[in-house]
Amino acid sequence: MEHVHTACKPRRQAKYKSDEEYKVLKLGLGRVFIFAKKMPFTVKLGAAASFIISLLFAMNIISIGYNVYVGKTPVGCVAARHDGDAALSAAEKKWGGELSLDLKYYPRLVFFGKYSNSLNVTESMLLASGKFARTSAITVGDRRIVFTSTEEMKKAEELYMKPYKTENTVSARLRGARISEGLFKKDGSVNAEKGAEMLSGVNVITTERVNETETIERETETIEDNTLHKGQVTVTQEGADGAREVSRLITKVNGEVTKEYVIDEKITKKPVKRIETVGTFIPAGEGSGDFAVPVSGTVTSPFGERWGRHHDGTDFGAAEGTPVYAADSGTVSFCGVSGGYGNLIIINHKNGYETYYGHLSRILVSSGQQVEKGAKIGEVGSTGNSTGPHLHFEIRKNSVPQNPLNYLP
Ligand SMILES: [Zn+2]
Repeated sequence: MEHVHTACKPRRQAKYKSDEEYKVLKLGLGRVFIFAKKMPFTVKLGAAASFIISLLFAMNIISIGYNVYVGKTPVGCVAARHDGDAALSAAEKKWGGELSLDLKYYPRLVFFGKYSNSLNVTESMLLASGKFARTSAITVGDRRIVFTSTEEMKKAEELYMKPYKTENTVSARLRGARISEGLFKKDGSVNAEKGAEMLSGVNVITTERVNETETIERETETIEDNTLHKGQVTVTQEGADGAREVSRLITKVNGEVTKEYVIDEKITKKPVKRIETVGTFIPAGEGSGDFAVPVSGTVTSPFGERWGRHHDGTDFGAAEGTPVYAADSGTVSFCGVSGGYGNLIIINHKNGYETYYGHLSRILVSSGQQVEKGAKIGEVGSTGNSTGPHLHFEIRKNSVPQNPLNYLP
């Protein structure tokens, strides 16, 4: 890459060869004519032009500078040869050794003070040496990857980040990576493929913008209706789910979501609620399905295996004569003596459930009678297969004994 400074762009090269000749030029006004006459363009200069040039010298508006060349490559314009030598020393320091550059100096007229910046001259020398290139590097921690060109660096980044990009990706970067542009040694610089390999282990942070349509579920409103039987449900209004459009920004590290937030949300369809009418009417002689404790006492024997056989109910110990209440409303389907149960009451709740009350001392209801939940139906006793006064209580669902303690409050 050729680096040319506009402040001092060499147009023509003078034919001076020795330092002695340059010094002559600086001696004074009169000698300027000598200088001017020796320039290749002197033939075109008349006396008036020469006079103007000498006047500009006298007024310090123009002076003599030197175009510096490395071989045939211009690297800048300096005020004196030692400025060029100093730029070379700086270049060699950066390279870390001798650059063996073939420097040539050519005198020229230059507007006073319009010399090349010394750093620019150094850089141009480094480029002209062929050992440096203006390119880019990626630095991660203490690792620096120099690329053969900035384009290769960009390609390497793309190659490395590609697996983590989706159609929704709006930005992607390498975590902890610093990209610098400048002059780097060509030696050891790499192309895109090699550079992408060298990036291995660097985390890729991507940001995605995702637009989604989400369902807003309809709510259900329940209206109780005591003209409908309990358990009966009528849908008065089906309703409809709504919809909203949600825009999210999602940050991922190596494809794993680390942050997510909503940046825009818009309801595109309002939900319409579902309305259900639920019956609450319970006719006399039918149960509600909720059971109350039938006696005031303590559990003395639970439901389950007992003495090698199954105990179909729960025993509540209580003194003889303690009131026994209907656990739920229903119709008495049996009352009387029944084997080991002794005096037994069975209430059919007309909803699949039956309750049993055994070992009673007294029965206060009759078969076919409708009873309300909580009504006194008998008294605790010890009739039938019993070793002391207690209530044997069963809940049966479709004739299958259930554990009453799973139903009682
Ligand atoms: Zn029992």
